[in-house]
Amino acid sequence: MGGFSAAALFGCFFLSFFIFNFFNQVMDPKVSRIPVKAPRSKSNWLWCSQCRRAFRYGEYRLVGVLQLCPNADCAADTAKFAWPWEELLADNPGYPEVPRRDTRYGK
Ligand SMILES: [Zn+2]
Repeated sequence: MGGFSAAALFGCFFLSFFIFNFFNQVMDPKVSRIPVKAPRSKSNWLWCSQCRRAFRYGEYRLVGVLQLCPNADCAADTAKFAWPWEELLADNPGYPEVPRRDTRYGK
């Protein structure tokens, strides 16, 4: 009896893990299914030329029809102010392949 409940608990744990992951992907407001207006990025990272921070391609704050920079303190439109990270890399060979979110890059 004790073995059964342990297995059931383990099963529930796994089930909730998958349900949690599923809802995380579907419900995450930062990951959207509407077309991304920012330029396509081969590295999957974009750089905001307003706040000079990097974020993942596909991340933004949706305000009306605008897709703004995902950083809450920045109101840049990613369609105009986001750059593919690899373009910044091309001008700055010392920058890492994978940028840090909390670092401000560029001038
Ligand atoms: Zn920004």
